[in-house]
Amino acid sequence: MEKILIVDDSILQAAQLKAILEDEYDITVAQRAEDGLRWASDENFSLILLDVVMPGMDGFTLLKKLQEEIITQSVPVILITSLSGVAEERRGLILGAVDYITKPFDPLIVKARVNTHVKLYRYRRQIEQQSMTDQLTGIANRRRYEQYSAKKWSEAIRLHVPFSICMFDIDRFKVYNDTFGHPAGDKVIAAVAQTAASHLQRSTDFLARYGGEEFVALTMGDTSEQIFGHFQKIRQEVENLHIAHDPSVAQWVTVSIGGVTVIPERGSDYGFYLKIADTILYDAKKKGRNRVIWANETLKQLREKK
Ligand code: GH3
Ligand code: MG
Ligand code: MG
Repeated sequence: MEKILIVDDSILQAAQLKAILEDEYDITVAQRAEDGLRWASDENFSLILLDVVMPGMDGFTLLKKLQEEIITQSVPVILITSLSGVAEERRGLILGAVDYITKPFDPLIVKARVNTHVKLYRYRRQIEQQSMTDQLTGIANRRRYEQYSAKKWSEAIRLHVPFSICMFDIDRFKVYNDTFGHPAGDKVIAAVAQTAASHLQRSTDFLARYGGEEFVALTMGDTSEQIFGHFQKIRQEVENLHIAHDPSVAQWVTVSIGGVTVIPERGSDYGFYLKIADTILYDAKKKGRNRVIWANETLKQLREKK
């Protein structure tokens, strides 16, 4: 059930709205704008019904605050106004409310307006989600990665926690495509993504398709030793899929992995460390592929010999 937040100081009015909508939606009522603001950022509402006239912080002020916060700015807000409140209506719509409903409530109009905006919001989220997802593998795409890495890098600087950047790449994949065909190659890319994703499930883990047969993973909080061990396991798991490669180059499909762990300082450049991960991946290829090489916090290399 999608969630709707009603912010209204009148208990009676809120109860009326709740009665109209509770068959189809999970309703939360806040009687004070301050509570409404807090709940709106803590929970995922699909719509907010907002009374304009309230003691303390009024509906307009709350609307403005909702629009300023990244988490709440895309949630549609419908204003509750009185029949004579044309000026309120105008002001609210200019401030960014998607619609208004007037008192006394006509249940069918309330339902219809709410349903329309919840549906539009659902479509928008779906499209946003799709535009951030790689179609072949279902993991994050490059666009999502660019957003996520920038955000998390600043977070790691602020919290002063270890941040790991890992690049990995399927070995001898051109030969695989030449031997088994592009569609078979696509399946391998999806299988490798799946295997890596199943080992990067924590809320602090992130995996994206960087391009072609190359992936990037970001994790926060682990030491280089811990994360080096983790990626050794991922390398092993990919090999254990036992996807037959062209025998002239290898028995199974494998990946090479290069990564770096750093505790970023204020002003540290993300691009610099990404380049290190990429260079180390290149080293892993030169040293014979199917291996993990990691640079620790002092940029000394940790190697898995294969
Ligand atoms: P290395 O071990 O050094 O990584 O060798 P490689 O052959 O994997 O590297 P190279 O970069 O020469 O080739 C990458 C190949 O990946 C070439 C390209 O055809 C293939 N590839 C890239 N994207 C896709 C894709 O979406 N699907 C398929 N099937 N193949 C892809
Ligand atoms: Mg490759
Ligand atoms: Mg993930």
